[in-house]
Amino acid sequence: MALTGIQIYKLLPKTNCSECGVPTCLAFAMSLAAGKAELAACPYVSEEAKAELADAAAPPIRVVEIGAGERKLKIGGETVLFRHEKTFLNPPGIAVLVTDEMSDEEVAGRLERFKTLEYERVGLTLRADLIAVKSISADAGKFEALVARVKSETDGGIILMTDDVGVMETGLKACADRKPLIYAVTKENADGMAGLAKEHSCPLSVKGDGLDEVSELTTKLTEDGLQDLVIDSGARGIGKALEDQIFIRRGALLKKYKPLGFPTIALPCEMTDDFMKETLIASMFVAKYGGIIVLSDLQGHSLFPLLLARMNIYTDPQRPMATSAGIYEIGGPNESSPILVTSNFSLTYFIVSGEIETSRVPAWLVVVDTEGLSVLTAWAAGKFVGDIVGIALKKCGVMDKVNHKKVVIPGYAAAISGDLEEELGDWEVMVGPMESAHIPAYLKEWKA
Ligand code: SF4
Repeated sequence: MALTGIQIYKLLPKTNCSECGVPTCLAFAMSLAAGKAELAACPYVSEEAKAELADAAAPPIRVVEIGAGERKLKIGGETVLFRHEKTFLNPPGIAVLVTDEMSDEEVAGRLERFKTLEYERVGLTLRADLIAVKSISADAGKFEALVARVKSETDGGIILMTDDVGVMETGLKACADRKPLIYAVTKENADGMAGLAKEHSCPLSVKGDGLDEVSELTTKLTEDGLQDLVIDSGARGIGKALEDQIFIRRGALLKKYKPLGFPTIALPCEMTDDFMKETLIASMFVAKYGGIIVLSDLQGHSLFPLLLARMNIYTDPQRPMATSAGIYEIGGPNESSPILVTSNFSLTYFIVSGEIETSRVPAWLVVVDTEGLSVLTAWAAGKFVGDIVGIALKKCGVMDKVNHKKVVIPGYAAAISGDLEEELGDWEVMVGPMESAHIPAYLKEWKA
């Protein structure tokens, strides 16, 4: 049973030191009770209190890990209904389906696309995460061979899909060390699947005919010692599936209803035969509130927008995305190449560097640490001003790499040119264009 804020408060040190980020222990207790804070934020909680608070401190939706090694996927752990309340934490895993009734070529195509469809955006690599391997034939040998192939040809997480306990056992033998998700335990096979999940320490997906049945199953399984569960409500109609996702999230967060306190799996691949419609359904689950989303195939025109939507929704709105400060060499610059300066807001950096590349004029781009703020905001906040930019230019060593004494600042920061010239001594500060789209034309005219 979850503790109330007052019950939690009684176990806290009550010194109101504010090191946890809120002014008082009472405020911290209330945040903890609401699932909006982590117990670890208070360094002074006693070990006894920690033990008592473990239940209250646990996220209302359990964190479940699938896979092993570098590509281990973490889902769940969410504490809010809406991103703007705080942030969403663990992006949903995108999976592609392969079955034992697909031809060799079809499987090869999907695995190849799984490996090669990768996109770099704002310093992140975006790609699919899992391969869902499904037994349709119920032939254990065919399933085992397909699982072994997926395991040997890819490094992604694996979902094993069959209701047959014997077939699942064979698949698990081929890939248990990769900690696959077992899909799915139902009320018909509960004992057998639960036994396999325990034996191999693998997460288990619970599929029910509606949320009442799911709740009964998760209650039974958790009482049996299984905690790493992933919910499939069983709905395959779009409206019902969305309603279930929202009901699960609200039940877990607002009602603290433990039987639904687990991440979910959604299967757009079973909801339509139209690939573009499937993509739209998948985008719905990216927003609300899929933990894993299984697609029938991966195609760039479908996967890329889904990955971008996922990235946008799962970045922390309170923390600007920043790139590392320093010198970036674009196009192989030499001693007569121009030096440009910008802020370390990721979007600014990628737009500016992209426009410099487009110009085909090799250049040195110096990125100043503005704590992730864009040029204009950083200037207004005093983080992109003459002395700070001047010190950054001197410290990074770019001034020794050129045989001229000119530096180009963004048009929006024209106001700092005087202070910067003072900071740099005999250097000329040139004011570049306001809009990065005009950088290529500007650079083509630029002369040392
Ligand atoms: S850090 Fe701990 S002791 Fe300090 S105010 Fe927060 S809850 Fe209280």
